[in-house]
Order: sequence, then C-alpha cells, then structure tokens
Amino acid sequence: MVDQGRHTRRQLLKAALGGAAGIALGVPARLLAAAQGGGAAASTVQLAEDLFVVTAGGVNALARTGAGGLVLVDGGSAATSAAILKAVAALPNGGPVRTLFNTHWHPEQTGSNETLGQAGAQIIAHENTRLWLTTDVTWPWNGQTFKRLPKVAQPNKTFYTTGKLDSDVRYGYIPDAAHTDGDLYVHFPKQNVLAVGDAVSGQGWASVDWWTGGWIGGIVGGLQRLQTLADANTRIVPAHGPVLSLTDLKAQYEMYGTIYDRLSQMLNKGRGPTEAVAAAPTKEFDAQMGNPDEFVRRAFESLWAYLSPDA
Ligand SMILES: [Zn+2]
Repeated sequence: MVDQGRHTRRQLLKAALGGAAGIALGVPARLLAAAQGGGAAASTVQLAEDLFVVTAGGVNALARTGAGGLVLVDGGSAATSAAILKAVAALPNGGPVRTLFNTHWHPEQTGSNETLGQAGAQIIAHENTRLWLTTDVTWPWNGQTFKRLPKVAQPNKTFYTTGKLDSDVRYGYIPDAAHTDGDLYVHFPKQNVLAVGDAVSGQGWASVDWWTGGWIGGIVGGLQRLQTLADANTRIVPAHGPVLSLTDLKAQYEMYGTIYDRLSQMLNKGRGPTEAVAAAPTKEFDAQMGNPDEFVRRAFESLWAYLSPDA
C-alpha cells in the first residue's frame, strides 16, 4: 500500500526547502550558465604515458589512450564537449572514444554523451545516474532546470557495485552519496590514478546536490572510502581543480568530518539553515576555502533531506 502521508510530507519538505533557498540564494539560471560557459580550448596535463587530464571550462576529464580504443572519464559540458573531444583526438595514440564514464549525472560531466552515444561508444554509469538522466531535474536552490537526455545519450551500460573494463580500468560505486546518489570512481591501478568526479572537491567548498541524493555525511563517508583505494603516491583527479593526493583526502576528511559534527549538533537542537550559516561552523577553514555560506546552507539542508523518514 502506498503511504500517501509520507509521500506528501517529502514533497512538502522539498517545497519548503526550495522556497526558502530560492529567496535567499536566487541566482538567475542564465547567469550561472554564463559563468559556467566556456567553449574555450582545452588544456592537457599528462599523468602517465597513456593517461591525460583534459580540462575545459574549469572542468576535468581524464583520458586513457591505447590500442583498444580511448577511455574517457567524463566528457565536459555541452559547451566544452567539442574542445574536449578535439583535444582527446589529438593525444598521442588518441582516437575515437570507445568508452565514456559518467562519474555522475551533472551537465558538466555528460555534455559529450549525445555525440559519443551516436558514434556508438559504450557509456558507463551507475544506474542512479542513468535514472536522473531520463528525467527533467530542477534544482530548488536556484531554479535551474536540466532536461532529460535523449535515449542515445543516456548511459547504455549501468552497474550497482563495481566493474572492470579491462585489467587496468576498474570502477565502483561510492554508495555514501557524497555529491549525488550515483557517484562513481574509476581506478587505473597500473598508473596509480583515481578519478573521483565531484565526490571530492578539488577547488573550494563541496557542492552538495541533496536534490539528487548527495549529503554532507556522504562527503565524509566518501572521503573515507576513497582513501582505501589510494596510497601515498596515488594521483587523485577530481572534476574541479588540481590533482590531489592521499594527504589532501585525509585533510578534507578531517575538515568535513568536523563540520558534519557541528551541523548535526545544530540539527539536534532544532536549528535551521539560516542559523547554521550564522553560527559560522566552518570559521577556521574559511581563510583557505572561501565564503562558506552557500555550502553551509546546502549542507544543512542535506541533513534534513537525508534524515527525513522517506529520504
Ligand atoms: Zn557535479
């Protein structure tokens, strides 16, 4: 039997959160789109003989070249797709992309899906990522809407736990729901490189997409989980920012763990997002990390979203 009451409560919660955030943080979607735009040329950093970070519009993709065809982890946004694919094709031993990973559903990662799907590439994602790409999504905190992708652009190979492309490419789900509920990592053990998408923030405060399942507790859990895949020499490639190390993951784990504890205590005292922002729960990190207000607000809202009974 469908529990109508619970369903309704969840919708009301989302509506309330959306309304509050919309007033406080309303940024017109077109401004965001302009800020995130680009279409500029891509830059490339070589990590190994056959492994390259390709960056366009401030967003990283990771390309592995080789005789078996090119493997690409994330494909940039629709605006940067052409630059990414051009840069990838020009790599030594580059060529057509045979396999594309989507680390999560966001447009900054899935902008090459349609082009590569039409070209017959295998598109691998967690099943939750595929599901988000089959539906329209509107973020309540800024009203930005993302249209579902056409069938050819949707992931055509999904998984739930782990998988292996060949002996040198392993991938797995990050079930903590750090950034979304479909986050995956791709591990290249031979090159000792780990691609982590936005489950780890390489630049500034984490973006907490609680609307599609991410939450502050998941950020902490994901950082702990990913440490088990890394050693002191592992290069960790996030979706934004420079290549990170295990030391960086440990520092982030400590920081977000501290903040998670503080926000949880405020939640338990019945405080709300505005009070959480006012309490400055990140103050000793702000000089290094920047203005925390949007992060704190959404991290707090993510506790509500995650801890509500039918979340
Ligand atoms: Zn993202």
